[in-house]
Amino acid sequence: MKIENYNFKKKKALVRVDFNVPLNSELEITDDTRIRGAMPTIKKILSSGGSVILMSHLGRPETGFEEKFSLKHLVKHVSKLAGTTVKFSNDCIGNVPLEMAKNLKSGEILLLENLRFHKEEKKGNEEFAAELASLADVYVNDAFGTAHRAHASTAIIAKFFPEDKMFGYLIESELNSMDKILEDPQSPFTAIMGGAKVSDKILIIENLLERVDNLVIGGGMTYTFVKAKGGKIGASIVEEDKLDIARDLIEKAKAKNVNLILPTDNIVADKFDANASTKETPIDEVPDGWMGLDIGQESINKIADIIRESKTILWNGPMGVFEMEKFEAGTKSVALAIAEATDKGAFSLIGGGDSVSAINKYKLADQVSFVSTGGGAMLEYMEGRELPGITAIRG
Ligand code: AMP
Repeated sequence: MKIENYNFKKKKALVRVDFNVPLNSELEITDDTRIRGAMPTIKKILSSGGSVILMSHLGRPETGFEEKFSLKHLVKHVSKLAGTTVKFSNDCIGNVPLEMAKNLKSGEILLLENLRFHKEEKKGNEEFAAELASLADVYVNDAFGTAHRAHASTAIIAKFFPEDKMFGYLIESELNSMDKILEDPQSPFTAIMGGAKVSDKILIIENLLERVDNLVIGGGMTYTFVKAKGGKIGASIVEEDKLDIARDLIEKAKAKNVNLILPTDNIVADKFDANASTKETPIDEVPDGWMGLDIGQESINKIADIIRESKTILWNGPMGVFEMEKFEAGTKSVALAIAEATDKGAFSLIGGGDSVSAINKYKLADQVSFVSTGGGAMLEYMEGRELPGITAIRG
């Protein structure tokens, strides 16, 4: 069932959104990207004659109500973006939301209080899901960031809407982008994996080895591979217990004819600091006491050339400590090369928290094909795992 074709006329739609936005100490929203992301779905339902009941989590409340995690702080801003006054229920279950939902008219929006004020949400409690379900006729899931969790509002609830459940536009576009990469990648397909640790990325690398032509490794995880090959890595970040896995991935890449590209040079620093002394060395000759914090110029040139020649690109994780100016060249060059390749017709997907921050930092988000909003959910989907929130609707 597609949101595009569904007839919402006179229907109450319960929409799971991801309004987990950052708030400052004055409880003002400092980044409303996630709220904006849900607007196409909300507006579609309203404009086709339905009403919208919004449910979300915000932060990590421990035991019940906490002022700083109340969704009431979002009411004004959601109203402004939606162009209509949003009603607010100070609980997500019980008589209050039930009455308010009953009286909701076509074109109106009701926002429910934080789902995680009830521990049943994260536990995936069925009665809790049934109570939420009783508020509406249709269920729409548009919260990709929590699709990998089997929570009451993201997965369990779907069974109460056997004929009337669907994804919102946001999840739909996330799935379309990832499926394009997993199922129908145009060759050459290059994946660029970076970030601090290889342990977070082993499963996705294994899944990608079945599909890619080029696999670029960068960032802190490089040094586990370099050490596994017998190189000198000085004080660089390393996972000693993953050396065997790194060797195994190198072998698998060879067996599958994947071009595995490890950096050949790097910028090393005498301490982990924005003002550290730096120099350039071969990747496997990091002096004792020094640490590699970015890829070097030779590696940048090689990696950027490969990216520019690619037709499908997946990027997850920075090439160095891009938060510090001295160590951002690698990450910035990769971001620019991806934008260039996209301009020449490649399909590019950027996912995972820090590469998303990087692409935003360099103001290139609108020059790539798709920027995923779903950190952990995106990684799990790309690993080939089933996400409870997706399976609950797609089957
Ligand atoms: P991840 O969350 O695994 O994608 O890791 C992202 C973090 O890895 C960023 O904050 C980077 O600063 C950090 N990082 C990237 N390269 C290195 C490196 N060579 N040494 C230490 N940390 C790094």
